Amino acid sequence: MYAEVLIEYSAKSIDKTFTYLIPESLKDDLQIGMKVLVPFGNKIINGFVTNIKDEYQEDYELKEIKDVVDKYLVLNDELLKLGTYLQEETLCTKIMAYQTMLPSSLKVKKQKNNYSKYLVYLELSKNELEINEYIVSHPSRKKQNEALELLLKEKRILKNTFSSNIVKALKEEKLVKETKEQIYRLNNKKVVEEKKELSLDQQKALESVVLNKEDTYLLHGVTGSGKTEVYMQLIEKVVKSGQTAIMLVPEISLTTQIINNFYNRFGNDVAIFHSALSDGEKYDEYLKILRGEVHIVIGTRSAIFTPLKNIGIIIIDEEHSETYKQETSPRYHAIDMAKFRSHYHHIPLVLGSATPSLESMARAKKGVYKYLSMPKRIGKAILPRILIVNMIEEMKKRNVILSSVLKDKIVDRLIKKEQIILLLNRRGYSTVITCKTCGYTYKCPHCDITLTYHKTSNNLRCHYCGYTIFKGERCPECHDKSLVDYGVGTEKLEQEINRLIPSARTIRMDADTTRNKGAHEDIINRFKNHEYDILLGTQMISKGLNFPLVTLVGIVNADATLNIPDFRSGERTYALLSQVAGRAGRSDIPGEVIIQTMNPDNFTLKCVARHDYERFYNYEMENRHKLDYPPYYYLTSVKTSSKDYELALKEINKIKNYLSSKLNKTSIILGPTTASVFKINNIYRFQIIIKYKQDDNLFKTLKELDRIYVSNLKVNIEIDNNPLQV
Ligand code: ADP
Ligand code: ZN
Repeated sequence: MYAEVLIEYSAKSIDKTFTYLIPESLKDDLQIGMKVLVPFGNKIINGFVTNIKDEYQEDYELKEIKDVVDKYLVLNDELLKLGTYLQEETLCTKIMAYQTMLPSSLKVKKQKNNYSKYLVYLELSKNELEINEYIVSHPSRKKQNEALELLLKEKRILKNTFSSNIVKALKEEKLVKETKEQIYRLNNKKVVEEKKELSLDQQKALESVVLNKEDTYLLHGVTGSGKTEVYMQLIEKVVKSGQTAIMLVPEISLTTQIINNFYNRFGNDVAIFHSALSDGEKYDEYLKILRGEVHIVIGTRSAIFTPLKNIGIIIIDEEHSETYKQETSPRYHAIDMAKFRSHYHHIPLVLGSATPSLESMARAKKGVYKYLSMPKRIGKAILPRILIVNMIEEMKKRNVILSSVLKDKIVDRLIKKEQIILLLNRRGYSTVITCKTCGYTYKCPHCDITLTYHKTSNNLRCHYCGYTIFKGERCPECHDKSLVDYGVGTEKLEQEINRLIPSARTIRMDADTTRNKGAHEDIINRFKNHEYDILLGTQMISKGLNFPLVTLVGIVNADATLNIPDFRSGERTYALLSQVAGRAGRSDIPGEVIIQTMNPDNFTLKCVARHDYERFYNYEMENRHKLDYPPYYYLTSVKTSSKDYELALKEINKIKNYLSSKLNKTSIILGPTTASVFKINNIYRFQIIIKYKQDDNLFKTLKELDRIYVSNLKVNIEIDNNPLQV
């Protein structure tokens, strides 16, 4: 018997199978989709079995498969097909596709896996009579006899209950033997919660989803409308019929509350899956899924690849979230993978959000997705009142960080013993110039995105099309000498609050304060217990948090997201601000939100303030239409990167010419320009953007390009289909 094995070798050029002999010892166990160890050159490396066959034609000597990496790690038929799809969608190698589908901790090991965790027990290895005889004839061995009597009574006792001396002595006398039992690390959950009586909107959404039929649903429900309860009851239905469910969440560390809801409702029937688990925990959760011991998987992006069988529903919460797109190769989107699995199993895919992506909403409007709406909050809670504050006016009064309104309202909440959340978003990844007097920011006339400031050349540049202007001394709008590179960090905000309102107890949540495992939960729990009055932080405070005492949310610098040079910055701002605003007033006490901005007339901000997604959507769609952006056009970006500036530039120009000669005349090629992150670690990056509606030549041409550059050691190319950040 022979096996075709796909070799795991870092060089991209080797992405093919080699034939190996199957040794006698593995004949019964080896399956297609298994991970194996094989000799390759003078090394032993990993591979995947892609085929097993009885015959082999060529007559040179074959090597034998050395071993199976882990008998549980098998990609089943569905996952092998999904791997092919992943490969085609992202132009990655097949081996990379398969690796991506296995838990990351298990993918690069060179040895056999040994993650299983065991409990070790002692049992008697002689019968009761013999043991009793032993006890009677050795009266001085008190401790040993006690252990033996205990074992007579209990039959099986954890080995570490006894001292190692006693265990050693008992084993030497051949009175006991050890037995092992595999256990899971995450395993102590009890069901404590009954399902809730649904609101009318929830009921309608629940009933609209047809099981055992392939369809994509968009569940558009405002913050606090009770989407989680709908997810749980959908999953309950599916599980009752014997099927399984996958639910994706954007970031698990920030969605602890959702996980707890699921544990409380479904107990041990839930496996969780995300990067913050230890390798051992990941392995255990994976095993539970493989062995069919759980029906429900909750996890982040990569959980879409979990080997659940007989799937009945896939749910993607916060479907607009950018974490569902992987930003490194293979650059896949979890929604695409979910659609593949929904098609494979003929089952519904539910995308939920308070602020759906424009792509999803456009599909819902066209009837490609089924639209479900929950426009009201549950119970007595109402959406918060949102106020926009003009920071240009405030700056004249020397209120640079906190406006007087926001400060007054903070003090008011402190007196009432209510809580406050302050969002200070990280600045864009590029330098943006703003006028302190009038709020003006430079935009590209062709692409409607913010221009990026390049200090060395004192230029402002559009990194989509290359449009460049010189940065003058004065603002082009109001002619004041007030152009600044404006930005405040979370730390400075905290200091400022401590200075202005010394009695406030503040806790900060950002990349710096959450480095350690469990730090998120710790901060969230302490804020929830009212050990602090103010939680301030970056966008990581925006998601999935539910604090009944929070009645005021302040958005300190709404401009930071608005001015990121990306055509999606409006969409991102709308989603982020609505999300944060949604943290206010989640109980009976109504909430209030203050948005501080230098662009008080910005349309996106006005829509946020009115909770008017529909209006925002129409406005934004009009812009996208005018400028040929998604969802009217698809985008693909191609980047070159190299230590050699000239070379990277030369190659991107070559690529542009090559693409121009191959693509449809209707496709638009923009650039080349410097990439948004132009220089990292002395590697220069250039990009072109392709806009297209339908182009049968595109993927073929991109594949060719990829192949041409595989062996180029000086210049690398990166291809991203439907990039989220361009
Ligand atoms: P969303 O995810 O849509 O923002 P949540 O799922 O967080 O909303 O629900 C908001 C709150 O309402 C939660 O505290 C939840 O427990 C509660 N809730 C949801 N559905 C119901 C219901 N049918 N009856 C009572 N409370 C509900
Ligand atoms: Zn431009």
